[in-house]
Amino acid sequence: MIKVCKFGGTSMADGITMLRVRKILDSDATRRYVVVSAPGKRFSGDAKVTDLLYETYDNVAMSGDTGEAFEKICDRFRGIVSELGLEMDIETLLSETRAAILAEATPDFCASRGEYLSARIMAELWNVPFIDARDVVKFGADGRLDSERTYSLLGAALKGKKRAVVSGFYGEDENGKVKTFSRGGSDISGAIVARAAGADLYENWTDVSGFLACDPRIVENPMPIRALSYKELRELSYMGANVLHSESIFPVREADIPIRIKNTFRPEDEGTEIVPTSRYTYSGKRVTGIAGKKNFTVIFLEKSLLNAEIGFTYRVLKVLLKHNISFEHIPTGIDTMSFVIDGAEMKNGVLDVVCEEIREAVHPDSLRVISDIALIAVVGHGMARSVGTSARLFEAIARAGVNVRMIDQGSSELNIIVGVDNDSYERTLKAVYEEFFE
Ligand code: ASP
Repeated sequence: MIKVCKFGGTSMADGITMLRVRKILDSDATRRYVVVSAPGKRFSGDAKVTDLLYETYDNVAMSGDTGEAFEKICDRFRGIVSELGLEMDIETLLSETRAAILAEATPDFCASRGEYLSARIMAELWNVPFIDARDVVKFGADGRLDSERTYSLLGAALKGKKRAVVSGFYGEDENGKVKTFSRGGSDISGAIVARAAGADLYENWTDVSGFLACDPRIVENPMPIRALSYKELRELSYMGANVLHSESIFPVREADIPIRIKNTFRPEDEGTEIVPTSRYTYSGKRVTGIAGKKNFTVIFLEKSLLNAEIGFTYRVLKVLLKHNISFEHIPTGIDTMSFVIDGAEMKNGVLDVVCEEIREAVHPDSLRVISDIALIAVVGHGMARSVGTSARLFEAIARAGVNVRMIDQGSSELNIIVGVDNDSYERTLKAVYEEFFE
């Protein structure tokens, strides 16, 4: 039995929490490979080391020096090493890191040093070898993970090591430069290590006891979700349930490795188990969870006989492609089609240009832009098995006095996505939660 454990930023925030981590590791001999994040916040209002590192990069770019942000980082790491009473020469490590940042001054390299240093310290604390992600996690020319090289290098590095600590969040691109995943990407690193190790379980240790059926900032005390399928997880985390990076299932999914979300600060809590969809057994619940995000923009197109016009969608998508804009959903009617786009994709007047080019490309009878839309996804395998889910959903939304602006039901019957005005987002989420969970 092999378990790979990833510990997030709050688990690495200071010496005390790192001792908790070691205790968790020592309590189970099958916990063999560990991936760590950079130290996160110790209290609300505290700085995350990764944010300070991006600030360090800005300082270097502007003034040629690492500045105050890097001093704060050094103090964090000095504090951790002294709290742990480790013998390691942290001063040399920090001055080498500073020199390396000045030499390889890219945002990705700077940001990666948080994981590098916390993994070095964790390896020392647990007294096991350190594996630098730069040597084993490789990206291809397209910017995506080069799985073949990564699994072969990482597999070789882990082989023969009973235990090891691997730095999360980054790897190396084809030019030999450090490249990071997107924010929160140590979750992906953990999944990659689990896959390369042929793990039986990927434990993702964080500061909450797993997924909740709804956002606790909006609904008071939502129910915990005990089990989720990969597909449900993907839907929920994509829509904003940010316990786990939404891309982290891909490496483990290929090898059917289950993921368990655990809480470093309440290790006895069961957490949430995420199981391969093929092994998922129906929990009897119609809806597994509800999640959502604000600030989408919808480009709504209407044209008579759109249903018979060949190439309509293709021509609109060509415009989006030209501007490198990714869309989220395309709900369609007979003569209507809407493109739902994350508002952040269309900054600096791009929207007007895109709309003009769409008009030229497809000559719609009308084109309307609806901004400030929030999307709410109601997710669960159970929906396909039970009659009347959407009736209950829309009744609940109507009772809350909210106008539905858009509906999209995935063809997998795993989710129903509802678009409402940003202003009605919280009210809708509460109403839907009450309907299915209370
Ligand atoms: N430290 C990185 C971040 O703050 C990556 C991670 O923690 O997963 O985004």
